[in-house]
Amino acid sequence: MTQTDDCIFCKIINHEIPSTKMYETENVYAFADLNPQAKVHALVVPKTHVKDVTELADKDPQLLAEMIRVAHTIAQETYNGQFRAVFNTGEDAGQTVFHCHMHVMTGEKLEGE
Ligand code: C5P
Repeated sequence: MTQTDDCIFCKIINHEIPSTKMYETENVYAFADLNPQAKVHALVVPKTHVKDVTELADKDPQLLAEMIRVAHTIAQETYNGQFRAVFNTGEDAGQTVFHCHMHVMTGEKLEGE
């Protein structure tokens, strides 16, 4: 079994599990979070399996930059271009899916920090 065989986000990227697509590039897939924390809540994920954003930053910083551009595009298409981006990194930070993903919240004026 490879690392990706039991990864739920790999299955979403490969369309083995359905998702609501919000944006896609050759390297990045974005879909609606099933448990939205804002009017628009996307998960932006690299198509290659890396466990978290620190691994991605080490291995492929350009791909990380592409994820930010995708977030900006989603925010422009759904709101005024402004968005909140969150990377939960590690169990103690609330990461539950160990395939790097950026929470992108937009679509309204957000409360809190
Ligand atoms: O940062 P964290 O790992 O906690 O985020 C995982 C996110 O993936 C959750 O917000 C959860 O709602 C979302 N999720 C999803 N669809 C799935 C499984 C998880 O949108 N099939």
